[in-house]
Amino acid sequence: MLSITREFRFEAAHHLVLSHLDQENNEAIFGCCAKNHGHGYRLRVTLGGTANACGWLLNFSTLDDIVRRQVLSIYDHSDLNTLDDFRDIPPTAENIARVVFFRLKPHLQGENFYLRGVSIFETPDAWASWEEERAFSE
Ligand SMILES: [Zn+2]
Repeated sequence: MLSITREFRFEAAHHLVLSHLDQENNEAIFGCCAKNHGHGYRLRVTLGGTANACGWLLNFSTLDDIVRRQVLSIYDHSDLNTLDDFRDIPPTAENIARVVFFRLKPHLQGENFYLRGVSIFETPDAWASWEEERAFSE
């Protein structure tokens, strides 16, 4: 299976709370993550598929444009908790990966490629991924 991956970076603030709990209970669950803080997030986007006549799944610059328009222009230098995407769910790495995947999916579907996975790194050694496999014949 052929795939390509591009990595992006964005800076954002967040805090992890469940809205029906008070701060004391949220800190009991989420620890110091219940307090507002920031991350230098890394976002990895992977496409799967087959090479087209140009020899690629998708031009990297086209992938860049889509990710910048659909994700980075909204998330970079934001407080994730204030975005509609995280109005009802805490912006954990797991939730960010899932939300970003479905933000990008409708824009990354072609005759020869599909969105295979999204990973969000909160730190260099802690990340979450949402992946979908799809059979793609040569
Ligand atoms: Zn955090």
